[in-house]
Amino acid sequence: MLSAIKNIQLKNLTLKDLIKKIHEYQPKANTDLLELAYDFAKQAHDGQKRASGSSYITHPLHTAYNLALLRLDMPTIIAGVLHDVPEDTDKTIEDIEKNFGAEIAQIVLGVTKLGTLKYRGLERYAENLRKMFIAMTKDIRVIFVKFADRLHNLETIEYLPKDKQKRIALESLEIYAPIADRLGMNEIKHILEDAAFRILAPDEYEWVMSSRKEPEKILIKNLDKIKKKILTELHSHDIKTILVVGRQKMTYSLYKKLLKKDRDINQIYDITALRIITPSVADCYKAMGVIHSIWRPMPGRIKDYIALPKPNGYQSIHTTVITDTGQIVEIQIRTQQMHEQAEFGIAAHWHYKEEGSVKIPDEQLKWINEIIDIQKQTANNEEYLKEIKLDIFSDRIYVFTPKGDVIELPEEATPIDFAYHVHSYLGNHCGGVKINEKQSSLDTQLKSGDVIEIIVDKNKKQPSSDWLRFAKTRSARDHIKTALKKNSHGLFNIDFSGLRKK
Ligand code: MN
Repeated sequence: MLSAIKNIQLKNLTLKDLIKKIHEYQPKANTDLLELAYDFAKQAHDGQKRASGSSYITHPLHTAYNLALLRLDMPTIIAGVLHDVPEDTDKTIEDIEKNFGAEIAQIVLGVTKLGTLKYRGLERYAENLRKMFIAMTKDIRVIFVKFADRLHNLETIEYLPKDKQKRIALESLEIYAPIADRLGMNEIKHILEDAAFRILAPDEYEWVMSSRKEPEKILIKNLDKIKKKILTELHSHDIKTILVVGRQKMTYSLYKKLLKKDRDINQIYDITALRIITPSVADCYKAMGVIHSIWRPMPGRIKDYIALPKPNGYQSIHTTVITDTGQIVEIQIRTQQMHEQAEFGIAAHWHYKEEGSVKIPDEQLKWINEIIDIQKQTANNEEYLKEIKLDIFSDRIYVFTPKGDVIELPEEATPIDFAYHVHSYLGNHCGGVKINEKQSSLDTQLKSGDVIEIIVDKNKKQPSSDWLRFAKTRSARDHIKTALKKNSHGLFNIDFSGLRKK
């Protein structure tokens, strides 16, 4: 179950392999329609070849197989088999609907409409992004098929010319990986990132690979002992444990961390971590207690994402301990369900779905609605790209209200962004801020983990126009502009913002 997708490179994959995979998680699945779809696609693509030289049908088959690894439902898998038919063959979307029904046809249509997000000038690029988000918001399964398609294309990328490789890699890194991240689909995100990183910056990739070798060798040597000790201790305290396994940090995320730590590998403690999977939440905390009683935890490195989940749904306890042999090791503790959520993200909701009903969690729904909002409010494509980049593709930070609620903001956000995110009243009446109980200036860039307390000034008439200089989020800027407009009267206080829009 762990790492469902990583390292799977099946040569000569067949329809039988696919069906077998599906039956592993849906033992009673009827595969008649899937078999028909396979024949249909095979015939439609007849005579076409992939750049690798193999017959074209291998590609939709691998795409469908990737979807089965994500344990998705039958309509999604069948759509995966058919996803290139309307674009590349003389069979149409109507043919697909007639043969396989409206649900499958809709998913295929969504994928077809996306086409490639080729960077052919800004206008075209923005248009394609818009199309993608529309398709995605109509049926999120469209993006699953797109991910599965992209994974296979990256696996076979060596056969393409160099410039095409770079284009696909860049698009994977800049568009698909961040979307996977926001949907909590960690494994997909990491695979996309690593494949892209290797193509876009081969020297840096090699550097990371060679830097990690030495510390990894030492740790792996000790890992078995550490694992055994943990298992014995947990067992003697009557804590049930499903699994204790090592997990390696993926290359690109290690690279990003290295850049933040002066490229010094010795400052990174989670190159390899240990994961403990327990049956219940109570067992997670008990396990942490036991581990802290045998090894000293490193101060400041205990993170409880079970009590305070990350906004994309991630839950786990992280702690870093120093073992009796002096080995520093990060330990992650979670339940089986949290583990599935961490690896599959939004797709995990299809694993337990009742017929036809999948409930998308609120946080992700909120994000999807944000996208729709941006789509509606920005007609100008240049502005649209800027907003999308900031609100969706920028790295996020997580800060706290004094009461302990988590607020998610884009990187480089300021107290003003925080204030408006909580409530427009708080923004408009912001008189100052305390960050971690220290008086700070309003243009301070916030960091993850900061506790922010906005000092309210009830007598404040309007926000300061100066705030527009450093407010990062669209919603803060919009609120400031609106409030300023309302209050702009008097001879010399002319407001041009309405004019500029026209
Ligand atoms: Mn394809």
